Amino acid sequence: MRIVLVEPGLTLRKIVARLVADAGHAVDPFSDSAQALAHVAAQEDVACVITSLEVAPLCGLELCWSLRALAGTTRPLAVIAMSADRAGRRLGEVLDSGADDFIAKPPEAAELHARLRVIERSLTLQRRLIRDADIDSLTQLLGRGGFMRRAKACLAVVGPPEPLTALMIDIDRFKAINDRHGHDGGDRVIRAVADVLKETGALAGRIGGEEFAVLMPGHGLGGAGVVAERIRAACARLRVPGRRGPIPVTCSLGLAAWNEGDTLESLLARADGALYAAKAGGRNQVVSATGEGLDRVS
Ligand code: GH3
Ligand code: MG
Ligand code: MG
Repeated sequence: MRIVLVEPGLTLRKIVARLVADAGHAVDPFSDSAQALAHVAAQEDVACVITSLEVAPLCGLELCWSLRALAGTTRPLAVIAMSADRAGRRLGEVLDSGADDFIAKPPEAAELHARLRVIERSLTLQRRLIRDADIDSLTQLLGRGGFMRRAKACLAVVGPPEPLTALMIDIDRFKAINDRHGHDGGDRVIRAVADVLKETGALAGRIGGEEFAVLMPGHGLGGAGVVAERIRAACARLRVPGRRGPIPVTCSLGLAAWNEGDTLESLLARADGALYAAKAGGRNQVVSATGEGLDRVS
């Protein structure tokens, strides 16, 4: 894993960096705690910070709090506090400040390596939990929460003048599919539609039972309309095995392009309005929300 080491003393920094590297980890050494914090914030692949408590300008405890706040609940990040002054520091205070573990300074090689192995086990589990919370188990697409989080991050990066279009997709007459082919037949249809969406390579999520959302950065309404029509046609071609032969599948799609002042919610609400129009217009079709109103694309 990538480990940031914060230790003001050059000799000890070199010794600990060598110990960490000996265990097969990449080490980014720092003497300045504020620079180390900025580095951890910028480098998402940093998984662990080993910090001396005797650091500046942020003291060791402040660095632990800041790292814990930075990681929040979505980034697996372990912190090991290192100090020669175990009794004076009150171990409880260090752990309550956000450190996961404490090690004597200078650390003993076997102990440091063992503690890093413990941390790796814990980070592996944390990564799995975070992933499971984001991913829909039926389709392996993002679930609603994961999609909304990623889509918001995407909006924050893209923004105007880059075009961006959202797509809402709903399987037509899905209750009838469940009734005729059973819940497992319905599930196979949901998975098959999800596979069609995966092929677009766009940011896609299952945001409801048989409802999906797709975000297409770099696409205006025109380009996204072509992709949407391709999705509609691919869904209509699906022949999912059912109890009484292949299950015919169609989907309705609504499109909306990002406008100045939009939030993710307002953008998706416009795409949803277009989807509603596609349903009302007879289903198995694509409708765009334009500045002037709603336009049938195909
Ligand atoms: P419309 O064309 O208007 O969309 O009609 P519809 O029948 O698809 O309408 P609606 O969206 O109300 O129905 C969705 C149904 O999807 C209701 C629910 O029983 C079913 N459903 C929700 N989640 C799942 C799931 O995970 N698996 C299966 N098999 N069915 C689900
Ligand atoms: Mg629905
Ligand atoms: Mg439906």
